[in-house]
Amino acid sequence: MIFGFGKKKQQDDDDHDEDLELISFQGPVSGPPPNLNENPGLVRAGLIPAKEIVSDAVSRDASMLRLDPKGAGYIGMLMVDGMKYPGPRLQKQQGTAITQILKMMAGLSIQERKKPQRGSIKADYEGQPYEITIDITPTPEGERLNIYLANLKTRPNQPDEIGISETLKEKIREIAATREGFIGVCGGPRNGLTTSTVGVVRSVDAYVYGVYKVFDTGTWDIPYVTDFEREEGHDLETTITRAQRSEAEVIYVPPITSDEEAKVLIKAAAKSGIIAEYPAKDAVSGLLQLIKWIGDEELVASNVKAIITSKLIRKLCPSCKQAYAPNPKLLAKIGLSKETKALYRHRVQPQELQKGETWDSCPKCHDIGYQGQIAMFELLEMTEGMQEVVRAKPSPDAIRAQVKKDGGLTLQKDGLHLVSNGTTSLEELQRTFKS
Ligand SMILES: [Zn+2]
Repeated sequence: MIFGFGKKKQQDDDDHDEDLELISFQGPVSGPPPNLNENPGLVRAGLIPAKEIVSDAVSRDASMLRLDPKGAGYIGMLMVDGMKYPGPRLQKQQGTAITQILKMMAGLSIQERKKPQRGSIKADYEGQPYEITIDITPTPEGERLNIYLANLKTRPNQPDEIGISETLKEKIREIAATREGFIGVCGGPRNGLTTSTVGVVRSVDAYVYGVYKVFDTGTWDIPYVTDFEREEGHDLETTITRAQRSEAEVIYVPPITSDEEAKVLIKAAAKSGIIAEYPAKDAVSGLLQLIKWIGDEELVASNVKAIITSKLIRKLCPSCKQAYAPNPKLLAKIGLSKETKALYRHRVQPQELQKGETWDSCPKCHDIGYQGQIAMFELLEMTEGMQEVVRAKPSPDAIRAQVKKDGGLTLQKDGLHLVSNGTTSLEELQRTFKS
């Protein structure tokens, strides 16, 4: 491997370098293509190294690669399925050239080095379409580069691939059938919030209801949803009112970032369904955040229908996961049926092998034991009981107690379901709730 990092690559023989296919950059997702002739020196110094570093990250199924300027060089970090791994270490000159060329490819300004910038590149790797998002944050030592990598073909898109169960889908459809009310979709950072929100929108039957979106969702394609563009000079409120007049029954709106936006949306939810995402670690915090933004408990109680939260968990690698017969006491303790015949776990590691057992490397997961992630979901419904709780200026405990009373879906329940059907392991579920 060119940069001498990565456990797997080091074990391979030297000619692996020649096998690494290079990614091809096809220009910015929005805006005109960069003029490479304007900067031949930068292209010579940065283009091939940038392609090598991105190709290596993509070939390792990374969702993010970070290059952080530190001292005399750059320190790299990779994220694979939400876990951090050491990345490349680069010399200052090379790291800077890579950062600059990627900025150029994403249509960002290479002269600007003091302000945050973000833009995306269309790319192709081994015949698969990718979206490479370049995110720049100035630090005292230079510019930190976060490169987000999304395979547009294998990115989960259908509600069930995202982790939305049939039961949750039914609930979302029931709410949509009323053609009114606010559905908030919440999650913590790096928990695939937009993916989950797209899943919620796609769970509404867009054949049956007039589903509109009033903002640019980039490379997310949501079939049968009407793209309702905001006219110049129109604010969010005017745009939503216009969409409602043209028979929108459910409207997918941009992520909420302020109390003003939240107030507009909750009021609009009296006339149509509204779906919006905003950051909050769980449904209880999500509801409390809304109450704080709106400042009117009655309005929240009457216009909010549900808060849906998601949290990502790694899936066991289907090629190398191992079944085991669970101890009945353990099943009782964690609340799984005693009829559960098998659970699955990450296979034993080479150092744990018993005498006579052999160990083959798993090419599918690069011996990590997990591959890909799926979301666990939580549903807080605005039942009559919950309305009473909200009207009484609730504490987090009071909301939690009501969720329990209502028997709603919780992250823990959804996670245990994924353990019982072999999608993930008990160990991974425990890790997820600790982190
Ligand atoms: Zn595997």
